[in-house]
Order: sequence, then C-alpha cells, then structure tokens
Amino acid sequence: MRIDIITCQPDLITSPLNESIVKRARDRDIVEIEVHNLHDFSTDKRRKVDDYAYGGGAGMVLMIEPIANCINSLKKDRTYDEIIYLSPDGQIFDQGIANELSLKDNLILLAGHYKGVDERVRQNFITREISIGNYVLTGGELGAAVITDAVVRLLPGAINDESSALSDSFQDGLIAPPVFTRPEKFQGMVVPSILLSGNEKKIEEWRFEQSVERTKLRRPDLIKKEQNK
Ligand code: SAM
Repeated sequence: MRIDIITCQPDLITSPLNESIVKRARDRDIVEIEVHNLHDFSTDKRRKVDDYAYGGGAGMVLMIEPIANCINSLKKDRTYDEIIYLSPDGQIFDQGIANELSLKDNLILLAGHYKGVDERVRQNFITREISIGNYVLTGGELGAAVITDAVVRLLPGAINDESSALSDSFQDGLIAPPVFTRPEKFQGMVVPSILLSGNEKKIEEWRFEQSVERTKLRRPDLIKKEQNK
C-alpha cells in the first residue's frame, strides 16, 4: 500500500509516522508513506501557497495551483483509489472506513490549513472527504496521521499477531473486554480468576460477556446500530 500526504506543514505529520507500528510497517515495506510539502509545488518565488479569500473575511485559503500541481504530478506515477480531503464537514471516520481504506492500494490524503482549501479543489480533485470528529483542528495533518495509523495497523504483517487488531474495539460492533497483566496481585487488587484458569473456551466466553456488558454500559448506540442492520 502507498499513502501520499499533502500538507503545507510537513513537520506536523512526519513524527507520528516515524514511531511504533507505523514505523515498523514502513521499515518492513508493508506501506510506503510519502509526505509532500505544498510549498515545493508553488510557482511563486516566495513559495507562497495561500492567499486572501475572495469576498473578504478573516483567514487565508490554500490556493488551487500548488495543490493541483502536486496531485497531478503524483497521478503521473500511479492511479489512486481515493483522493481524500480532511475536512470537519466530511464523513465521520470510524473503524468501518479504516477497514475499507486498508484494502486500497494507493491513497492521497490532503490536509487543509487556515480557512481550508479553494473550493475548486474539492469540486475537481477530491473523491472523498473525511472528518475525524465534530470539532475544528488547526490543520488536517493530525487527521491524516489518525487515518494513516488506523489503516496501517490493519495491514497484514504490521502487527506481529494479526488477530490482535481484529479483537480491538469496534471490529465486531463491540467494545474490547478488559485486559490485565502481571503481577497477579497488586496492593490487594487481583486479576479475575477466570483469566488464570487456562481454560481457553471459558476465557473466550468471559471476554465476550465482558464486551457485551461494557458496550451496553458505555456505548449503547453500538448495540442499537447492530440491531438496526
Ligand atoms: N473553515 C473550516 C470550517 O469551518 O469547516 C475549518 C478550517 S480548519 C481551521 C483547517 C483545516 O483543518 C481544514 O481544511 C481541514 O483540513 C482540517 N480540519 C479541521 N478540523 C478537522 C476535522 N475535524 N477533521 C478533519 N480535518 C479537519
């Protein structure tokens, strides 16, 4: 898989993609991630990428030209399954979208900044718009990092035990069960005895029950969603 991220603030995104599972997946050639600095695609001698909004008002707007130059140059080398714009008014990102995107070969993630991008970019270059939640961030870089992380950890080989990602919250419409590790006793607090029993079937049943109970308590909306399917 290849993910190209376009941003006017590359430093905001490079660090999270060079740590932990995403770094390991890159090192193992499971995913190729390239961050493109929009300023490199500006034709302006000061490498400007933003300008005032037509009609006035506060805030700068990312110009269409450097974005078009960048996307067109990437498209010369490969066909993209999706060209995604990170936007607070996009489709809310969830595990289902992460699963779907993890099956794609080539993705572009465009991070906006300031007041956003010239609307003509959205109308003519973007195939999908995704929000990471109902709040406004300074830029799309952290959103691009969130999507990349959630997608890359699903790629075969990214996590040593692949079943681990599949047993995480949301994969089966349920919240993950509680987990415990050593020591068995800490200041009077004990691990549920079933987890020490060695009885795999009983442990599996206990985990499932815990997941259902937790989901009912913390995220009843997920249960309703499953029932309405
Ligand atoms: N004027 C825009 C609006 O009101 O919808 C907000 C622009 S925001 C300050 C700058 C950029 O941050 C956006 O272009 C987008 O790329 C990114 N962004 C902000 N909030 C986001 C969110 N919840 N999800 C994804 N991207 C977001």
